[in-house]
Amino acid sequence: MDPIAYVNGAFVPLREAKISILDRGFLFADGIYEVSAVLDGKLVDNESHLARLERSVGEIRLPLPETIARIKEIQHELISRNQLKDGLVYIQVTRGADVGRDFAFPKGVKPTLMMFTSVKDIVNAASAKSGIGVITVPDIRWTRRDIKSVALLAQVLAKQAAAEAGAGEAWMIEDGKVTEGGSSSAFILTRDDVLVTRENSSAILPGCTRKAVVKLAEERQLRIEERAFTIEEALKAKEAFITSASSFVQPVVKIDGKPVADGKPGPLAQRLREIYIEFARATGT
Ligand code: PLP
Repeated sequence: MDPIAYVNGAFVPLREAKISILDRGFLFADGIYEVSAVLDGKLVDNESHLARLERSVGEIRLPLPETIARIKEIQHELISRNQLKDGLVYIQVTRGADVGRDFAFPKGVKPTLMMFTSVKDIVNAASAKSGIGVITVPDIRWTRRDIKSVALLAQVLAKQAAAEAGAGEAWMIEDGKVTEGGSSSAFILTRDDVLVTRENSSAILPGCTRKAVVKLAEERQLRIEERAFTIEEALKAKEAFITSASSFVQPVVKIDGKPVADGKPGPLAQRLREIYIEFARATGT
């Protein structure tokens, strides 16, 4: 079956979906994106993702061309048209295509809204069972990482370096501390059983999965500290893991080739993964 995408009001075969070469998303990375997981045909934690979409577009003064209610309808229509059971729905909104390439915001130009789905069996990913290795790279991104901007070149380079090293993710380092993964939030479990993840600020993207996992952990009386940590601390930790919409919770078993604890997926990471999947199934929309 040919996948169906949505572009500016129309549902079209993905292969035929087109935007202008003058689209500001293409020319300037002047746009915002969101990714929600789909499990058993239902969107996971979607309100959280759409709230972040609204916040991100607000931060760059980009008006959404459709209401959030309509965007939800389009998400569901794409799931249905693509008969998607397990995977992802991608949303991108840009400041549209002007007649030329002026940096300042164009007047009277309608933002571009496009969406597509992809198939991914997140629950049964082999890497969730084996755990992943991460490498460390300097965090060379801009300073408004709380905005989910489509300007992802630093992450492309970081994740390519990880792929070349046979690792599943890159942890980005700034001032000696981990900011986050290339496309995930970073957690450790300290020797005295404190779950540590960096506090939200403009240094990181406020992960929706991070937020849900922190809440689920709090409800289970786990101790949580929101603060930055170093790689030295992570290597001394009992466990490490990452969270994201496209991976849920994944154990980290190696950092720059060195094992975390015994180099096996930690029990808490595995448990939190199960708890998150239960939450995702119970609250999917
Ligand atoms: N941090 C960055 C830089 C990301 O790109 C992502 C997801 O793409 C995340 C964290 C995880 O966010 P979420 O859990 O909302 O998918």
